[in-house]
Amino acid sequence: MDVNELINDLNDAQRQAVCAPPTNQLVLAGAGSGKTRVLVHRIAWLVQVEGVSPHEILAVTFTNKAAREMRERLSSLLQAAPGGSMLRGMWVGTFHGLAHRLLKSHWHEAGLPENFQILDSDDQLRVVKRVYQALNLDDSRWPFKQSQWFINGQKDEGVRAQHITEGHDPYLTTMKMVYAAYEEACERGGMVDFAELLLRSHELWLKDANLLKHYQNRFKYILVDEFQDTNAVQYAWLRVLAGQTSKVIAVGDDDQSIYGWRGARIENIQKFEKDFEQVEITRLEQNYRSTGTILKAANAVIENNADRMGKSLWTSDADGEPIDLYAAFNEQDEARYIVDRVRTWVNQGNNYSDAAILYRSNAQSRVLEEAFLRDGMPYRIYGGQRFYERMEIRNALAYLRLLGNRHDDAAFERVFNTPTRGIGSKTQDDIRMMAREQGCSMFQATVGAVNHGVFTARATNALKGFLVLLDELQEATTGMALADIAEHVIRNSGLLDFHQKEKGERGQARVENLQELVNACRAFEAEESDLTPLQEFLDSAALDAGDAQADDFEDAVQMMTLHSAKGLEFPLVFLAGMEEGLFPHKMSAEEPGRLEEERRLAYVGITRGMEKLVMTYAECRRLHGTDTFNALSRFVREIPDQYIQEVRIKSAISRPVSYAQKVNTAEITQDYPGLGLGQQVFHQVFGEGTILQFEGQGNGARVQVKFNTEGIKWLVLQYAKLEPLS
Ligand code: ATP
Ligand code: MG
Repeated sequence: MDVNELINDLNDAQRQAVCAPPTNQLVLAGAGSGKTRVLVHRIAWLVQVEGVSPHEILAVTFTNKAAREMRERLSSLLQAAPGGSMLRGMWVGTFHGLAHRLLKSHWHEAGLPENFQILDSDDQLRVVKRVYQALNLDDSRWPFKQSQWFINGQKDEGVRAQHITEGHDPYLTTMKMVYAAYEEACERGGMVDFAELLLRSHELWLKDANLLKHYQNRFKYILVDEFQDTNAVQYAWLRVLAGQTSKVIAVGDDDQSIYGWRGARIENIQKFEKDFEQVEITRLEQNYRSTGTILKAANAVIENNADRMGKSLWTSDADGEPIDLYAAFNEQDEARYIVDRVRTWVNQGNNYSDAAILYRSNAQSRVLEEAFLRDGMPYRIYGGQRFYERMEIRNALAYLRLLGNRHDDAAFERVFNTPTRGIGSKTQDDIRMMAREQGCSMFQATVGAVNHGVFTARATNALKGFLVLLDELQEATTGMALADIAEHVIRNSGLLDFHQKEKGERGQARVENLQELVNACRAFEAEESDLTPLQEFLDSAALDAGDAQADDFEDAVQMMTLHSAKGLEFPLVFLAGMEEGLFPHKMSAEEPGRLEEERRLAYVGITRGMEKLVMTYAECRRLHGTDTFNALSRFVREIPDQYIQEVRIKSAISRPVSYAQKVNTAEITQDYPGLGLGQQVFHQVFGEGTILQFEGQGNGARVQVKFNTEGIKWLVLQYAKLEPLS
């Protein structure tokens, strides 16, 4: 590609940033103004025009998905194959991914075993629980999750247990103790949690000057996207790596900082200006993504936050269509409405993948998912119950992990009695205790116990059985291809059998998932590295969880939380569950700081939309087993009326729940003409009410009705004799 083409489709400010001489840069600009585009073009410019070697470039983005997209966009700009030589050697990834890569190459210097394992948050919680046992701590006083939260929070700030001065505070004293014991357990098992990846590699640089120098010399250009969401350790990591010589370009938007709850610091933006020399600041104000209406709505919402760095975005685009607002009767109706809208959209010749459904909390996805399933519409969920987090998959991965490292306690613990092989919980506890007391792995403790006949003959045999199984698996799979290893292990560990015997849908789904794991292994392409394909696969499964849910290339509607939508854009965007209590989340509504973070999240959500935005809310929502009646989210009310079009006529959008309108909805079943969601009905005993939900068919069909005086009830249609009111 010639140079002109590279910079032609950039505006002046973007071009200046892309073509600047080597210098530190901060690009501070609103959503959709081309920040990521500037980063990608800058890399292309460096390689193509300045003759910089890809080897000298390190780019950090926020998600694995974003990293992949960056590579794709680069290769199309440079007209090179994605894995091709033009890009080879360039480090593009997330902070965690890059830190992991570093530790994998320098495990020895970092004081880790070669085959250290990554703990995801579920594994981490298990380790915390074990630590509690050892310390004899009461989890009703100090909840497990609180400790986990504390540990991660400290690590994100770069603080080790030994650095904490607890004074007389019992909370801090306890947390410090848990943290220290947790560190010890991880050390012993060669386990590294997510926050540790960064902290450890940061410490590695501080203690190994030569190594640091090597990387400082290597990475002459560092580019960081979504800079507003870096936390303290990430910032320190960058700063140390950049040293005096590397040039850093950081792009971000203070209005899109949404990870404060995980330690992100907006202040890093101001720090950057001070800590780095001669920082050129670029502001971009033209938005290229959204229609005028969407943009104005976003601006109107974010204006309600105090303390903004302040920027105004404009677009040369037309105003486009108004934002649709649909008041659903309940979450079922909401899901059904969204499915209908997507179908219409696809019938008009659009792709499924151009539509995204965004929601505040993962728990909302299930109902949506079910509606899509019922309709046979392809969808893909990012996050939530991820493929690699499913129980059966984690079990299979644990076996695979043990092939590489028997001292992996988290894996050992997970499967030494899964499927059940007669190792009772008392024996399990004893093994844990022996491992702790002897400061060895659970595997070693088991070997010792078997050799010394510590347990009853029965328990000893069961344990021996597991040890023999590990040996057999190891021997049989040596030299096998990755997918064959997975298949062999799933079959011969007894896992497959175990789930096949499980009754009903669930067992079936688990068996299918296990098969899917073999498929995933087959499709897995190992990068060039010293690791075995199995090891690489396990690492990528741990790091990349969530991206493997469905076929990447299948045309499917995208569903994800608002948090995971950062940086992305879609022609049609649904914001589901726009209700007080849900969004803003009830935990955040009372605290000004957290409310502002929620508002930034709303801003992120709205600005994902390119052509059309549809917002929905449910007047009645079943959440965690109870019905809640929420008011319309304040974030919707902050958008001036003129940009919103209500899909169903209501007297006032800000009015709380009202069922007074007559509506036209789909009938529940043909057997009961005139009855549909939202229909007003009369019941002999309970009086007047409104239909909220229905389930079942034929004689089993039931409806949920909210009666004006008698509250909410489920009724079997066959007996209820409901009369529709007009
Ligand atoms: P976010 O804050 O959401 O991450 P961003 O600032 O990174 O947004 P980009 O994703 O880089 O914005 O750009 C938004 C959209 O606008 C993209 O589709 C991009 O291709 C397009 N775009 C950016 N700059 C230009 C330009 N100068 N001409 C045409 N299209 C542009
Ligand atoms: Mg971006």
